[in-house]
Amino acid sequence: MIIVMSPGASEQQIEAVVKKIKEYGCEANVSRGVERTIIGAIGDERAINQELIDAMAGVDQSMHIVKPYKIVAREWHKENSVVDVSGVPVGGKTVQVIAGPCSVETQPQMDQAAQFVREAGCRLMRGGAFKPRTSPYSFQGKGVEGLEMFRRAADAQGLPIVTELMDIRMLDTFLEWNVDVIQIGTRNMQNFDLLKEVGRVNKPVILKRGMSATISEWLMAAEYIAAGGNHNIIFCERGIRTFETAYRNVLDVTAIPVLKRETHLPVIVDPSHAGGKAWMVGALARAAVAAGADGLLVEMHPTPCEAWCDADQALAPDELKVLMGELGGIARVIGRDI
Ligand code: PEP
Ligand code: MN
Repeated sequence: MIIVMSPGASEQQIEAVVKKIKEYGCEANVSRGVERTIIGAIGDERAINQELIDAMAGVDQSMHIVKPYKIVAREWHKENSVVDVSGVPVGGKTVQVIAGPCSVETQPQMDQAAQFVREAGCRLMRGGAFKPRTSPYSFQGKGVEGLEMFRRAADAQGLPIVTELMDIRMLDTFLEWNVDVIQIGTRNMQNFDLLKEVGRVNKPVILKRGMSATISEWLMAAEYIAAGGNHNIIFCERGIRTFETAYRNVLDVTAIPVLKRETHLPVIVDPSHAGGKAWMVGALARAAVAAGADGLLVEMHPTPCEAWCDADQALAPDELKVLMGELGGIARVIGRDI
């Protein structure tokens, strides 16, 4: 940590800061300039309470020089991590496309969807049984019955399943139904108790970016999961809220290379919740793969106009097939496959 003293800070104030740093078990390196004194704290700076330093008399500002996140940081783990989702690698050379409906509706809908997902060449399937809806009067998901329908449909096609967990009390049920990937949705990115609980289980987790979360907040949320012992984390950029109202969210393509630099964990993109319209999904998906995403989370419904949730943004089965072909071309250009 570097502590910059105010111009005119007294010798006593400087000494007080040095004493404080030593109390935290760090060494202090005092550098006296013409106008200001700068104090470097050497050692495990995470032990230092920055707020208390900032509050000391004569301190102008302080800054950390190591990242506040550790397990998820590339700084500590140079190689890309590959998350094994029931035998399907996420984060390796192959770009993985996770497709399926926004929500689980009926057994025939899920059976058809699973068949289309597999036929399009995808290796993982999505579908929500518990839905975080803006209105309490909207369809809330089929619940446990939905997990059962999802499992049955996906098993018939040999597809691991991704589904959202909203309530800690459902975690055991998710494990009983052998959910392959637990999705933590946008609205729960900073539900720290939920993050701690999924940190204790040995299941891959997709951590979606909060609606207005900074990259740093997102990384810290992942660190909560990792700190519990579960390092099988996949980041999912799904668009952020800005001043723009012409589309549902703004897909932050910039977040892809930034995150890939900051963390060794896989980064995937959800173009469906970003654009909010099916006709935008292809363009956003292509951009994401070109920018280095390790995978995509795409909404596809057997009959989009009949979807109970997010009908506007669901791809039709044949559109998913076309998209997979296009993505294959982009993946090859950048030395990957799909
Ligand atoms: C979803 O993937 O079904 C979903 C609700 O997404 P988000 O949390 O990104 O809004
Ligand atoms: Mn949706």
